[in-house]
Formats: sequence, structure tokens, C-alpha cells
Amino acid sequence: KNVGKISLEQIDSLSGKSFPLCMRQLHQSLRENHHLRHGGRMQYGLFLKGIGLSLEQALQFWRSEFIRGKVDADKFDKAYAYSIRHMFGKEGKRTDYTPYSCMKVILSNPPSQGDHHGCPFRHSEPELLKQKLQFYKVSLSGISQILELVKGMHYQLACQKYFELTHNIEDASFSLNHPNQYFIESQKVLGG
Ligand code: SF4
Repeated sequence: KNVGKISLEQIDSLSGKSFPLCMRQLHQSLRENHHLRHGGRMQYGLFLKGIGLSLEQALQFWRSEFIRGKVDADKFDKAYAYSIRHMFGKEGKRTDYTPYSCMKVILSNPPSQGDHHGCPFRHSEPELLKQKLQFYKVSLSGISQILELVKGMHYQLACQKYFELTHNIEDASFSLNHPNQYFIESQKVLGG
């Protein structure tokens, strides 16, 4: 329903303003490494589909980033384009895959070395999480509130706190359960 609502040029700025931390980190890794492994491509690719990227936009997005790295256009078309069409239900069983919920990201397929998918509130070491939050200009008092929630294993509440701190609101009026919901709520607050 929202297909084609955003342009590829908007993604960098949206990732800083309206993406939850899991997607912000996937986007940043993709831009830095010109590559994401399978788990990251699935988690991020389906999220992007959920915010409205069309199949054509998705192919262009992934291709243009991958060919800046070690993959040439020919290899991209042979090795990666299929899985992107697959995500959109255009190959294989033609299942139209839905973006992953927070519970799915938190509970299944934990990232290993070299992976950038997962939920940073659940899967990053507290010290590393703290560094990431500092890098994203979250205040020290905000960071300690977040780390306290993480300690109590309230990962989604920690994410919601991150939302409140980065949107300058006291109390988010929703209960977070999905990265795409985070995006929609953010756009509402920002009037996007
Ligand atoms: Fe992403 Fe959900 Fe984790 Fe937030 S709580 S970082 S939206 S998986």
C-alpha cells in the first residue's frame, strides 16, 4: 500500500532519524562494507520492503551498494538478485515474506562474528552498545536508563526508551513490537 512512497536518496537521512537501532546499524554496515551477509540482507531487506521500497528499487539499492565492493554487476545478478526477488515473492514458492518482528529478531538466528543483524539491545555486549549509543549522541543519563532496561532483559522497552530520547518525547504512546512500527511511529512524530 505504501510502495514507492520513499525514494532511494532518502534512505541515508531516514536511517538516522526514523530507523530503529537494529536497522540503523545494518544500514551503516552496508554503506561501510558494501556487503551484508544473508541474515542481515533478510532482516534489512524485508524492513525496507515494509517501509515501501518496490522490487525495482530494492534491486537497484542492493546492486549499487554491492558493486562498490567486491561484487561486480554480473556476479550480483547471478548470486544475489534471485534472493531479493525471492523476498518479494517473485521466485521459488512465491511466498510474500513479511518483515521480521522484534520477537523474531530477538529470539531467532543470533548473529555470529561478522554478522550485523539481530537486536543490538539483545545481542551487543553492554560496553559495545554503550559506545554505539554515545556515537549516536544519546545522553549519558539516557544511556544508563537504557542499559538498566537491558540488564533486566527488557529489550523492547530499551528500544522504546531510545525512541523517546532520540525523538525528544517523554512517553511514547505505543508499545513497541516491530521495527516497521518503530519507523511508522517515528514518521508520525516527525511529521514525515
Ligand atoms: Fe530492532 Fe525491535 Fe531490537 Fe528495537 S527492539 S532494535 S526494533 S529488534
